[in-house]
Amino acid sequence: MRDYIRRLLIAAIMALCVSLLFLGGKQTEASVEDSKEIKAGWIWPTDGVVSDTYGTRHGTHKGIDIAGSLNSPVVAVEDGIVGKSYYSKTYGNVIFIKHPNNFVTVYAHLNNRLVNEGQVIKQGDRIGTMGRTGESTGVHLHFESHQIEWTYDKKNAIDPERLLGNAEVGVAVKGGMANTESLVASTNVPGDKAQYIVQAGDTLTSIAMKSNLTVEKLKEVNQLKSDLIMPEQVLVIQK
Ligand SMILES: [Zn+2]
Repeated sequence: MRDYIRRLLIAAIMALCVSLLFLGGKQTEASVEDSKEIKAGWIWPTDGVVSDTYGTRHGTHKGIDIAGSLNSPVVAVEDGIVGKSYYSKTYGNVIFIKHPNNFVTVYAHLNNRLVNEGQVIKQGDRIGTMGRTGESTGVHLHFESHQIEWTYDKKNAIDPERLLGNAEVGVAVKGGMANTESLVASTNVPGDKAQYIVQAGDTLTSIAMKSNLTVEKLKEVNQLKSDLIMPEQVLVIQK
């Protein structure tokens, strides 16, 4: 009888362990996969206009492209340590940064590299300048984000849009700014299409002032019938 109880107890403990293991695994997966956007507090790495998105070129493009002018400053999206800084035939002048929240970011085709391997950097620190080195058809920053580590097959790559916010082709971004701020700041760039995500507390008047538009123009462009706006609503703030 005692033997039976002992066996029962062992079976119960094993079942508990297995279920805990299952639950634990499920949770880590959920925190990354279930949210479209991951809250990382990143800033855009440079000024320019998004010219290509993640997953294009038959799925081989594992980053986003931001087209801009030669030698525009390129900054770190978050605090970290420079993992690699070298010249590669494909990436050209490239910098890898390892972040404490287990992401690795890659900044490619740089004209100049301004940091060295092992260097500790803060968010917004200038790490290089935009260029067209390596396999690049024009001046742009190719930016990648990876979970845990960069690998040759890029299996850990994650769409940077999930960390930076809206990065559709044609969106103007401002280096050093978080997504919504950068879109407002970019309205003065001629010919650029920009969007603004309404935040709690915003009014049409405050958005109009920030984007150098009149309330009438803002309503016209967005085909708004009233002055009522909702948080998370996306407004076009093109001139
Ligand atoms: Zn690219």
